[in-house]
Amino acid sequence: MREPVTACIALGANLGDARQTVRQALHDLDQLSGCEVRSTSRLYRTAPWQAQGPDFVNAVAHITTTLTAPDLLRSLQALELMAGRERPYLNAPRTLDLDILLYGAGHIDSPALTVPHPRMWQRAFVLYPLADVWPEGVTPQDLQRVQDQAIEVMT
Ligand code: ADP
Ligand code: MG
Repeated sequence: MREPVTACIALGANLGDARQTVRQALHDLDQLSGCEVRSTSRLYRTAPWQAQGPDFVNAVAHITTTLTAPDLLRSLQALELMAGRERPYLNAPRTLDLDILLYGAGHIDSPALTVPHPRMWQRAFVLYPLADVWPEGVTPQDLQRVQDQAIEVMT
């Protein structure tokens, strides 16, 4: 049995009932074999950034997992498919996007997987929910840097 690793997963959706899709995905993540959700962020509404379509619903889940990073990615992609994810073109609107932000202290740089996620520190829709689940990891300066991106907590 592998030692559990702490990981952070970004969730995003902007097609269909995005709020419900993200809620369901947070639940499904906890049901995945080898994954346990430890805490979840609030849900955020964000304007599309370098993307198209309706506003996004975003969240971050803090999990522990005994899966390897490639296996975790495969499991997340299976959840995306269950939510009806299609990839007609780059940055297309999506029913569900699940990205690995952090996998323990690991650095991975393979064709299929880059961890830490290379664009996470530029994205308000990642940093605000990440700060909910990992307050010591995101500084006020990190949030300051992305203040031009529209984001609000959903009620
Ligand atoms: P987006 O970049 O908008 O999330 P996709 O979800 O379509 O686009 O992902 C494209 C590819 O990004 C995936 O096939 C996956 O192999 C790769 N990828 C690289 N690093 C990561 C990561 N940290 N988390 C999730 N996918 C990743
Ligand atoms: Mg993705």
